[in-house]
Amino acid sequence: MARKKIKPKELEEATERVSADVVAQIRDLLLQKKSALSKNINTELDEMRTAAEGHHLADMDDLGGDANDEETSYKILEIESAELDQIEYALGRIDAGSFGLCEECEKPINAERLKALPFATLCIRCKRAQEATAD
Ligand SMILES: [Zn+2]
Repeated sequence: MARKKIKPKELEEATERVSADVVAQIRDLLLQKKSALSKNINTELDEMRTAAEGHHLADMDDLGGDANDEETSYKILEIESAELDQIEYALGRIDAGSFGLCEECEKPINAERLKALPFATLCIRCKRAQEATAD
């Protein structure tokens, strides 16, 4: 007997576009995430500014530990800014009415996939094709 592979719901191909209700839920979620992220970023920027003011006269050689901390802060900030961009982009697509459609083939993206990954811009088929061609 052939064993049937069980696919997670978000990996199934969608037959219809995500409903307006779900889009509204995702939009709320994105807005919440956006404000939380903006707050984080502002706090971190403030902290970095304060830290920079604290040791701007010190010799760089004495700042090994601090420099590492700063590097980590920059990385976090970079990741958070990238996420913020993705949120803005997804919100823009919601407002433009193109949210939930694949950017590649314009077919609907599975609703479960969008709930799990609100920034997804490709349907699972195109995503797989992209991953297959990416070195
Ligand atoms: Zn597609």
